This record gives sequence, C-alpha cells and structure tokens, in this order.
Amino acid sequence: MKTGKCPKCGKVLEFIQFEEIPIKDEKDLFDTGVSLFCPYCQTILSVLLNTDSVATEILFNVKKILDDVSDVFLEVQSFRNDVHNLKSDLPAAELKIQKVFHRKKRKKN
Ligand SMILES: [Zn+2]
Repeated sequence: MKTGKCPKCGKVLEFIQFEEIPIKDEKDLFDTGVSLFCPYCQTILSVLLNTDSVATEILFNVKKILDDVSDVFLEVQSFRNDVHNLKSDLPAAELKIQKVFHRKKRKKN
C-alpha cells in the first residue's frame, strides 16, 4: 500500500504516469527527457533525462575512444615491428661497417 501523495491534489498515488518530453531552450532541442506526473491532475512531479539516450551517447563516446586507442595501438605495433626489423638488420650493417673500416686501414698501410 503506497502512502506518497500528489503535492497538488493530495491524492495518494498508487503509481505515477510518465511520458517522453523534449527538453529544449527557445529554439534548440537539448535532449529527450521523461516527465513523471500525477495520473489524477497531471501535475508534473519530476522530469528525468531519458537514460536510454544518455546511455547511447556514453556508449558512442566510449566506442570512439576505443577506436582511437586501437589506432594508437596499431601505430605502436607497427613502430615495434620497424624497430624489430632494424635490430635484425643491425648485425649485417655492422659487418659492412667493419669491412669498410678494415679496407680504409689497409689503404693507410
Ligand atoms: Zn495530483
């Protein structure tokens, strides 16, 4: 048994009604909300942001951040591959440098 009363008509409310309501300033739509009102006199008791659309927006932003992070991750991965390739080329390059160095030494003598 419910005991809460409507502040306008004083009736005990066993339930409250809701409807979607646009939230806007003079010209622009800000968001879609839900208004909760007395089923007897239609006095609005509270208005909430539509949690579904807020959740959808948060999900969209999280997905965008994940995409950005995975782009950065791919870049880092390809950089690591480059470094790995350079490292495996290093011994051959060192050998070449040593050969050139020895040749120069021999020319001096
Ligand atoms: Zn009422």
